[in-house]
Amino acid sequence: MVYRSSRYYQSIQLADGFFCYIWQGRGNNCNTCLFANVLRGERPHVIVDPGHITSEFGEACFDYLTKAMDENGFRVADIGLIINTHSHPDHCQANELVVKNSGAWITLSEEEDEFRNTLGEKLCSMLGLKAPQFTPLFYLKEGNLSLGTKNKVELEIFHTPGHSPGSVCLYWPENKILITGDVVFHGSIGRTDFPSGSLSLLKKSINKLSQLDVEFLVPGHSTEYGSIVKGKLNVERNFQAVKLFL
Ligand SMILES: [Zn+2]
Repeated sequence: MVYRSSRYYQSIQLADGFFCYIWQGRGNNCNTCLFANVLRGERPHVIVDPGHITSEFGEACFDYLTKAMDENGFRVADIGLIINTHSHPDHCQANELVVKNSGAWITLSEEEDEFRNTLGEKLCSMLGLKAPQFTPLFYLKEGNLSLGTKNKVELEIFHTPGHSPGSVCLYWPENKILITGDVVFHGSIGRTDFPSGSLSLLKKSINKLSQLDVEFLVPGHSTEYGSIVKGKLNVERNFQAVKLFL
């Protein structure tokens, strides 16, 4: 494992070619994950949730992410695919800049795209936020997602509504890594008080995830308890603890 810290992102390598960028700034922004050198062709990297462009405090989130990736030797221009766990602006506002730099494809679930284009858009304008602008190339479906050919990454996609109607979580069985977006955090759960949020659906989603064999739980945001939950026992304890909120 490699740890590297800048003021705005802590970069953590959890497996061969897999990096987490943990947001350290003051404002709201998500954590980002990168599968490096996976896809065939000139743009081999896959990024999960590139986050905000700028936080509410004016922090240049995406510029800092670009710098943190550069320090690990990865360029935004070499990203071929963006996976969004869900469509909230703090997870996918920067999609458009990644696409501008690299021409990357975008994917999220169909349910989430529908939400984004209806209620989500209205919600953004009510909050005075710019609705994220992008066009997905294909939709994520529950089940296997095979990325690349040479350095193949076999993911399992789980449909995990509750925080948002089309939220997904990504499970990588080979390394027992679970990317949870805003479904479950270190010692906490995703908000369900947004329109289209549902505590009962979130409960079902978290129950489903808690059945998996996980060594590293990578949440979409850090909490006062921490960011990544490491170790199977700690992950199990975390699921037990967060189920008390449900
Ligand atoms: Zn969210």
